[in-house]
Amino acid sequence: MKWVVGVVAAALAVYPVLGIGTEYHLTVAVLCLLLAVQAVSWNILSGYAGYVSLGHSAFLGIGAYLGGIAAERLDINPLLAAPLGGVLAAGVAVAIGAVVLRSRGAAFVIVTIALLLTMQVLATNLPQLTHGNQGLAMPLPPWSRDTGNLPFYYLFLALLALTLAFSAWIRTRKLGSGLIAIREDEGKAAAIGIPTTRYKVTAYASGAFFTGVAGGIYGYFLSYISPTTMFAVLASVMVVLAALLGGRGSLYGPVVGAFVVAIGSEAATVYGGGSSSRLLLFGALLTGVVLFLPQGLLPGAAAWWRARHPRTVEYTDQEGALGRLPPVRASLASGSQAELLRISGVSKRFGGLVAVDGADLVVRRGTITGLIGPNGSGKTTLFNLVTGTLRADAGEITFEGRHIDRMPPWERCHLGLGRTFQTTRLFHGMSVLENVVAPLPDGRWRTAVRGGVTGAEARRARELLDFMGLGRFAAEPAGSLSYGQQKLVELAQILMLDTRLILLDEPAGGINPALVEHLKGVIRQLADQGVTFLLVEHNIPLVLDLCDPVVVFSQGRTIAEGPPGKIRDDPAVLEAYLGDPKAERKVERPC
Ligand code: ADP
Ligand code: MG
Repeated sequence: MKWVVGVVAAALAVYPVLGIGTEYHLTVAVLCLLLAVQAVSWNILSGYAGYVSLGHSAFLGIGAYLGGIAAERLDINPLLAAPLGGVLAAGVAVAIGAVVLRSRGAAFVIVTIALLLTMQVLATNLPQLTHGNQGLAMPLPPWSRDTGNLPFYYLFLALLALTLAFSAWIRTRKLGSGLIAIREDEGKAAAIGIPTTRYKVTAYASGAFFTGVAGGIYGYFLSYISPTTMFAVLASVMVVLAALLGGRGSLYGPVVGAFVVAIGSEAATVYGGGSSSRLLLFGALLTGVVLFLPQGLLPGAAAWWRARHPRTVEYTDQEGALGRLPPVRASLASGSQAELLRISGVSKRFGGLVAVDGADLVVRRGTITGLIGPNGSGKTTLFNLVTGTLRADAGEITFEGRHIDRMPPWERCHLGLGRTFQTTRLFHGMSVLENVVAPLPDGRWRTAVRGGVTGAEARRARELLDFMGLGRFAAEPAGSLSYGQQKLVELAQILMLDTRLILLDEPAGGINPALVEHLKGVIRQLADQGVTFLLVEHNIPLVLDLCDPVVVFSQGRTIAEGPPGKIRDDPAVLEAYLGDPKAERKVERPC
């Protein structure tokens, strides 16, 4: 792969000086590079994190207008203003992203189109600055006419190299793997400590920056800019199309796509008789990609290659053997019976349904506290309230004496709260090892720009996988493991962090009896090292064997609590599980 990139880069670098093309060809090449810069920067948020922006050329226009206005008002060369255009574009992206990227869902797409159209309206209606529909004329470049567009070609080539280098760098950092995690399962990403909003805004702003810089150069290249050319919807569509065609989420895919789309668009205009044939081409390309190449050209080709050249991996450890637990961090090992988690009077409604109804629960340090109750009694909802996936309607939750009610999930995770999900949620596109190193210990920038898999981290992840008996699967895609093995990987994920309390939601549900025994061993070893557990489980023998105390939940609140021996014989518990015997008799009599 590296040598292909090297050859292509060298070819692009020497192409203009070889004298094989005309000035027209050079102009088309400039347009290809421009689209490539935009597609690569679009890819940082929309490809890695999966948040599609349909108004990416808004940033191109912002850069171009800043350059034009700076040249007219302050008499400075637009090229010198181009980086400032990038900064302004990034600023706009932060302002918008900080509001819209807080939540998930389709709002972002709509807002990006709205941004593009708003910018167009602004450029039209601020004639003092922009000359409205008349447009802004740029100064002529200082170089001679013979030089033509050559300097622009090299400027865009250099900018593309920079954008690619940044995109590649971010991909290898925690920030990059965090973005992929967000794309795969945002709720899960937040639960393992990834500050999702901040990561998304950073990605959006950095993409906006490079496109803003490109806009500054592009406006100068065009020598005339107007609201409709600079804030065109079709230009944004081309960016998306280029990235989709080449392979969104891949590093070089958007570049390949950009060349195909830009050359195709030019050819359609020249040979196809105008812009309507361009639209037809874009429509056909988009349909073709969606139907036949959902991954895009480059990832599609890579998958084809891998299928023909399968790797063989040798394993040294024994399958399924329970390894020795690598020492968990010192802060875990304080085993006093102090309160770790306190839930007081917490309620949660879903419409008319009260899922959690004034629940009280205390988890003491060093215990394995069991939480049992019939299906639908609100156990998972309670977990969601504690870890911040949901916000409570009423009540208080404290962890180590601190109120955590208002904290986002990742902050709660950084305090030492870890959880597994009732239906396992691993990042299926990542390998098992990548899954295990995905959690983030804190929300600092320093951590975000740290290497995705550092040596010490990888070593610990491998130790944990060995401990779970899953070392041999480290390089396998997480989705290829059995359901029970996935549950163990999810537990290993949490153990990467300095977790003080682990909430397990039905860890033994749906897994085979041998693996349940294995799981029991894992939990015991961890508890011996001082890890505290809150365990929701339907496997009652397992709960009675492992847990002390056991809390019984029914209809969203605690109905009994105590050591396992007492819970086993509690009539209230039997009633909650089996129904009220008297009520049954009442129903039977009329029959
Ligand atoms: P448990 O884990 O004890 O089986 P849950 O907490 O999953 O119970 O569910 C409690 C009740 O809340 C159920 O009736 C369920 O249908 C409902 N519920 C859970 N999550 C949601 C949601 N996101 N929206 C609406 N209702 C929900
Ligand atoms: Mg549940």
